[in-house]
Amino acid sequence: MRTVSRNHTRIIARLQAELTTATRHNGPNDRAGTPVPVSEAWAAYDHRPRALLRELDARSGAHEIRITGKLRYELRPPAPAPDRREAPGWERRIDVVVDRDPDACTDVTVYLDGIALSDSSFAVHVIDPGASGPTHEWMESATDHADDVPEPVRQQLNALAACYHRHCGRESCTE
Ligand SMILES: [Zn+2]
Repeated sequence: MRTVSRNHTRIIARLQAELTTATRHNGPNDRAGTPVPVSEAWAAYDHRPRALLRELDARSGAHEIRITGKLRYELRPPAPAPDRREAPGWERRIDVVVDRDPDACTDVTVYLDGIALSDSSFAVHVIDPGASGPTHEWMESATDHADDVPEPVRQQLNALAACYHRHCGRESCTE
C-alpha cells in the first residue's frame, strides 16, 4: 500500500478535493464502517501527527487514513456514473478524427465509445501515391504489410494500391 507523505501537500490537496465520501471504522472487524463527513477524517488526520494516509486501491482511488490501530477512515471518490454500455439498445461507437495537415504528416485519433485510444492500440494505413505518383516502388511499399495486419485490411489496401498503379511493363508487375 502506497503511503502519502505529509509533505506532499499538493497530492493531499487533490485528494481532499477528489475524495468526497468517508466511512469511519472502529476495530479490524468493522469492515462496513459508519458514513461520516470527509471533514471528520481530515480533521483527525490533522490532529494526529502520526496518522497515516495510504492508497487502498489504485483503480478505484480509495484511500485510508489510519489514526490508530483501532480507528481508521476509508475515503472514496464519488461513485462513477452507470456505464452506458449496460443500457438497453447501446451500440459500440467509433469516431475517427483525421488531421490532414497539408504541410505535415496526417494525424489520426480514434475514439472508442467516446474515449481516445492510445496510439499503440490501433493501426493507421494510408494509401497516398503522393507527388511522385503510383510508381511500381510505391505499390510495392503500399502492399508490404506487417505480419499482424488482418487479412481483410490487407485485401483492401492491395486493391486500392492496384487501382492507382497501372501495369508498368516490368516482368514482376502483376498489375
Ligand atoms: Zn508495376
